[in-house]
Amino acid sequence: MTCKELTERVMAFRDRELPLSTRLSLQFHAAMCPCCRNLLTSYDTLVEMSAELADVQVPDELAREFDDMILTAMRPPT
Ligand SMILES: [Zn+2]
Repeated sequence: MTCKELTERVMAFRDRELPLSTRLSLQFHAAMCPCCRNLLTSYDTLVEMSAELADVQVPDELAREFDDMILTAMRPPT
């Protein structure tokens, strides 16, 4: 397995969608290759972060202010 192949399979690997043989060669590659080990670690961090963010409740008022900010930013200059 190459670094490129590993990158393309990270998501499927974490979702356990890959056959065992592919998972093993991916894990084997990650064990030998610091770059891909980093990639797997960052991917895990990202997944954890988005899981935490999904639990955060944004107050209505803040959400409205945020909408206003986006609308203002998107408005074409006059
Ligand atoms: Zn690699």
